[in-house]
Amino acid sequence: MSKITINVDTLDIQVSDGLTILEAIREVNYDQLDMSIPTLYYLKGVKEVDESGVCVAEVEGEAELVNASVYKVYEGMKVQTKSPKCTEARKAVLADIAAKHDKDCINCHRPGTCELQELLHKYEISSSKMDADKKVAIDDRAIIVRDHNKCIRCGRCVAVCKNGQGVEAIKATGEGWDMVVEPVSADGLIASGCVNCGQCIIACPVGALYAKDATAQVFDAIADPNKYVMVEVAPAVRASLGEEFDFNIGTDVEKRLPETLRALGFDKVFDTKFSADLTIMEEANEFIERLNGNGPLPIMTSCCPAWVKHCEDKHPELLANMSSCKSPQQMFGATAKSYYAEKMGIAKEDIVMVSVMPCSAKKFEITRDDQDGAGVPDVDIAITAREFARMIKEAEVKLTAVPFEPFDDPLGIGTGAGVIFGVTGGVMEAALRTAVEKLTGETLPKLEFCDVRGMEGIKEASYDIAGTTVKVAVASGLANADALLEKVKAGEADYHIIEVMSCPGGCINGGGQPHQLAATWDMVDVRGKRAAVLYKNDANSPIRKSHENPAIIELYDTYLGAPGSEKAHQLLHTTYVAR
Ligand code: SF4
Ligand code: SF4
Ligand code: SF4
Repeated sequence: MSKITINVDTLDIQVSDGLTILEAIREVNYDQLDMSIPTLYYLKGVKEVDESGVCVAEVEGEAELVNASVYKVYEGMKVQTKSPKCTEARKAVLADIAAKHDKDCINCHRPGTCELQELLHKYEISSSKMDADKKVAIDDRAIIVRDHNKCIRCGRCVAVCKNGQGVEAIKATGEGWDMVVEPVSADGLIASGCVNCGQCIIACPVGALYAKDATAQVFDAIADPNKYVMVEVAPAVRASLGEEFDFNIGTDVEKRLPETLRALGFDKVFDTKFSADLTIMEEANEFIERLNGNGPLPIMTSCCPAWVKHCEDKHPELLANMSSCKSPQQMFGATAKSYYAEKMGIAKEDIVMVSVMPCSAKKFEITRDDQDGAGVPDVDIAITAREFARMIKEAEVKLTAVPFEPFDDPLGIGTGAGVIFGVTGGVMEAALRTAVEKLTGETLPKLEFCDVRGMEGIKEASYDIAGTTVKVAVASGLANADALLEKVKAGEADYHIIEVMSCPGGCINGGGQPHQLAATWDMVDVRGKRAAVLYKNDANSPIRKSHENPAIIELYDTYLGAPGSEKAHQLLHTTYVAR
């Protein structure tokens, strides 16, 4: 794009031609996070027109304020972003919203990350509390809880569910402040095809949407002297948790996790990297069996529960293609309550298995049928990274001060292949590292499969492996997965392996991850920085292939036998239902 010069608040700046005023200002302020033009409804890639009334600017020659998210820049334009006229207009809008919004900020899930709260402070808006008789009941029938009293009618949730996920579980009816955002079915989100991905929660600027909180259940279990409480932490959590504690975006806090969890009172602290490696052992074996004629191709990954449910809802004819492997979360619980419990002499009924996940859909997954490999639920309580952060804050554990210690043995041992599960393309890369070495019998000269890395919604690659050209595809975001599957159904693609992650970018951008303000999403590559944490963690790992994890080798040698064995199937595999 060619450059033009515009004058903003008396300063001449060079910006790309063709941008809106908002885009132009954020382009030059990339590293400064200058909030001189605020937004409330705008979210890059989701809803790029902000009709809230706060995203305004004064342009010389225009009688009225213009919408900065729509109005395009031109050579010589003179713009004011902080004029009294702009400020007065924003204050009027914010005062109006504040009067209608339930400002019970103390009990809200978004303190410090609420975009409305941020602007109310900045523009010094105070107003009385919402009248109690105007409040409507909170809808907590599903994992995704809706508090309409906090909704500011931005429409971001509806847009992301429809355009990003292709699900359309929620709709907006009515105009302006009469708008009601609600599930498409009167029977709630469960009946509306919602897959619990939580992308609407991530898109919401306020506390109107959140995942059902299970932190009290975890504290209760820890306090129960008759319970043995174990915890597993998913790979993507180490790439994001620091954001809740003022670490820079893109900080790896893996080494702080074990002692933080011990300080919270967990009896054993483990790493889901271990069961990500286990998943690869089973999935690579399943792929090789199918390649040898014992099952349908393409094999589709099954570690994302939102994707699994979406496939059950929208593509039931392809369920036979889904890998029968449980997700790493569930494999972990099944292994902990069988192999580990027997090894340690702990009654499986006394174990409470807690998972810390980047994900809201994992709360749904633990309730699925056929997730009780050891005869008791694989996982008892799933909490998100945000809930984990709340627990740490409530217990006043200092994440910044805890000593670096390892996770407990042996279920705390994982490889670099396991850690990249948290990013789009990571499961594929981890599977290829193992499948290629198993198929060829040779050591891979290079472990990185760069074609499947990156934040593109759909990635394709092919590899010559032991005389076969293996074609792979990776999709993140369910709308992208739908597009890919339509090609498969139409016979226009002959992939061998498909990886799907529901959240754009994978679990690093999961529905349970820490919130960031819309301006941060706009100006900082949050997904890229979180993904870089996992790739660096992998590169620095002493072991980078799942089949070389010594704890996994011992598990097969002493307990499971071999990948795909009867015992492995009983504990680690599952079935699906057309919905
Ligand atoms: S959780 Fe996902 S599928 Fe459900 S309403 Fe939100 S965006 Fe839509
Ligand atoms: S629920 Fe949140 S994202 Fe949806 S319209 Fe209301 S404020 Fe916007
Ligand atoms: S991509 Fe990851 S975080 Fe998102 S729904 Fe799937 S498993 Fe959960």
